[in-house]
This record gives sequence, structure tokens and C-alpha cells, in this order.
Amino acid sequence: MAFIDIVRNGYQTEIEGIKTAGLFKGERYIHSPQGSEIEVEFPVGSEIRKCINICANNYLGLSSHPEVIAAAHAGLDNRGYGMSSVRFICGTQDIHRELENRLTRFLGTEDTLLFPSCMDANGGFFEACLNERDVMIADRLVHASIVDGMRLSKAMQDTFKHSDMGHLEEKLQEHQDKRYRMVITDGVFSMDGDMAKLDQIVSLAEKYNAMVFLDDSHATGFIGRTGRGTHEHCGVLGKIDVITTTLGKALGGASGGCVSGRRELVEMCRQRARPFLFSNSVAPVIVAGALKVLDLITSSTDRRDKLEWNAKYWRGLLKDAGFDIKEGDSPIVPVMLYDAKLAQDFARDLFDEGVYAVGFFFPVVPKGQARIRTQLSAAHEQHHLDTAIEAFKKVGRKHGILGLGKKELVAKYEMELVK
Ligand SMILES: *Cc1c(COP(=O)(O)O)cnc(C)c1O
Repeated sequence: MAFIDIVRNGYQTEIEGIKTAGLFKGERYIHSPQGSEIEVEFPVGSEIRKCINICANNYLGLSSHPEVIAAAHAGLDNRGYGMSSVRFICGTQDIHRELENRLTRFLGTEDTLLFPSCMDANGGFFEACLNERDVMIADRLVHASIVDGMRLSKAMQDTFKHSDMGHLEEKLQEHQDKRYRMVITDGVFSMDGDMAKLDQIVSLAEKYNAMVFLDDSHATGFIGRTGRGTHEHCGVLGKIDVITTTLGKALGGASGGCVSGRRELVEMCRQRARPFLFSNSVAPVIVAGALKVLDLITSSTDRRDKLEWNAKYWRGLLKDAGFDIKEGDSPIVPVMLYDAKLAQDFARDLFDEGVYAVGFFFPVVPKGQARIRTQLSAAHEQHHLDTAIEAFKKVGRKHGILGLGKKELVAKYEMELVK
């Protein structure tokens, strides 16, 4: 057999394995702008149909906002399409710096540096700022991009059990011999929708001389009274050493991310962070759009207020219908199904009922923790949610799962109880 055929066979077997495990992820094509109602081709090749979207990170409904689009158009006209350069060669425009300054003010930090994405911000930060004399102590459920970023750093890696402050304290005590300690957490955890206990984390960090690193990608723009993020919600504005976040979710949803925080740490990233040094500048059109987003969200809290209302309302609807949901205050509302295949079938059936949601299963969430993750948006009107819940109920009845808790659901699908 030719070498390439041996290789192909090898990968084909692996891909078949993914399929038989029920873990294969197919794409769906969207034929409309992002919004609360979208046109979707699913499966690929089938007819395009309109549906209610409850799985985007379009928290503030700004992804296709007319004023953001107009600002992006103007940016395109005034500053061109692409930079054809990384920032430090010839890729920094006045508007890049303007956006960084605006983000600094919004997040309540000292300085900000844009990255091509938050994945890149996380990928670059730890290597640039910490070395073998330091330790990184991360919550066990931090985002994959933080895990990857930590792997690239020479600092020692350690973790604490999810949101377990006693365990974090033990770890801080254990690592008192290190030069710097950094506690690392997401603000809102993307799969469960729960929030970090940031006030307690900050207290522990103060007690044991540690820095705090917060990835607020699922919070910036809408968590906290004025939407500044988890640090505002927890009353620790100005006390977080480093915040990374994305422009790719609530803040218009295009792309781009940043490191924001203590002046010296941001400067270290400007000097050393490899994704900043070796990947292209955020396109001017996105910078111009993001500046408009900041205008909109700092002039009124209407959008984040509406999102908060929508999330409460939706949680109530799901609970009343008898679904097993994860409690929380965020607009991420996971509907727990536990079984990977059920999660996929459920999403498929919802789509047939005109509701677009996605099943999440291993490796995105732990085995035995499959779910439909629903996400609210300020672009949802009440009628969207009222229509969507009818679809959920219908599909729930079809699978006979309404009113079932974790134990019953797990037993129904004959799985091992995974803690
Ligand atoms: C989405 C997300 C990222 C990645 O953001 P991008 O800008 O899309 O790369 C990083 N961290 C967290 C916690 C996220 O939710």
C-alpha cells in the first residue's frame, strides 16, 4: 500500500471512531446576518429555513446593529480594508490606540493591548509575563485557550477545583516559595454559565500575595450594573491585575481580543507576546465597529438590562416546562441531557421545530455532561422565547424527558453517573 493510503486509512478509522461514538460535529451554513432570526442550511445540502437562534454569543444584539454596520462602513472608507502588517511593523493606526484607550476606561484598568483574538491574548500572555520562578494556579474549568497559553509558559502549572476557595487557599499556601503567584479564572464559565467568586479570589490573592488573571469573554459588555464585567458584578473593579476579553462576543462579535490591566504587564505583552508580535493587526473595519459598540454600551444600559430580563424569563420558562437546567445569573442557560447522542438528536429535533440550538458533548464538556446550551440575546423579543419554549416542550415530550432530573435522565440512557 502506498504511504499516503496507509495514512488515509489511519485517519479514516479515527474519524469513523468519532462518528460511532456519536461525537461527530457537522457544520451548518447560515445564509443571513447574525441575529435572533437566521436562515440556516442544515444539514448542508438541504433546504434553507428560517429559525429562532438561541446559540450565538450575540449577547447585546450588536452583531448586525445598523449603527455598528454604518460605523464599520465609515472605517472601511477612512482607514482601508487591511493593514498587511503586524502591529509593531506598520500595522498600528490611530484608531487601534483609540480603541485600546476606550477599552481601558471601560474595563477600569491601566492599559490595553489588542490581539487578533482572545485565544491569542491567552496564548501570548503567560509566556510573556511569567517564567520558571512563578506559578499559575487556574480554575479547573478555564477556557481551552488559557490551558493552551499556560502550556506555552515556563511557569509552573497548577489548578484548583472549580470555584473551590478552600482548595485555592491551599494552593496559594503551598506555592509561597515562588516569585509570583497568579490565580487564573474565567469570569463567566462558558459551558455552565456560572460566575467566578471574584471577590473571594481577590481577598485570597491579597492575603497570599498573588496576582489575579480574569478572562471575561462571556461577561464584558453585560455582566455588572453597567456591563463592565464580572469584576463589576463582584465589586472588585480596579483590583484585577489582568483581564483578557474578546470583541468576538457581546462587543459586536466580529473578531479581536485584548489584554488589559496593570501597565507593566500590558507592556510586557507589547514587547514579548508572540501572537501580538507575529500575527496581523485587527482590521480597521473591526476597530471602527468596536468603537461604535463602546459608544452604544456606555451611553445606555438598556441592552444589558433587556438581556438580563430575557435570561430570567427564559430560565423560568424552561424550569416550568420541567427541564433540568443549571442555575445561575448569566445569559448562558444549559439544558442538561447528559447523553451525547440525545443532545444531538434533541438539537436536530429542535431545528425541525424552527429553533436553532446546538448540543454540546465531549470533548467540549466532560463525558456524561452533554447538554443543549442556550444563550440569550438582547435581540430576542419575548415572542421569540415564547415560541422557542413550545418547541422545547414538544421535543422534550417526544423524548420523554420532561420533569426528569439528573438521576432519571442518566438512568434512562443507561450511563454511568459521572460526577
Ligand atoms: C470565546 C472565548 C475565547 C476566545 O475568544 P476569541 O476572541 O474568539 O478567540 C477565550 N476565552 C473565553 C473564556 C471565551 O469564552
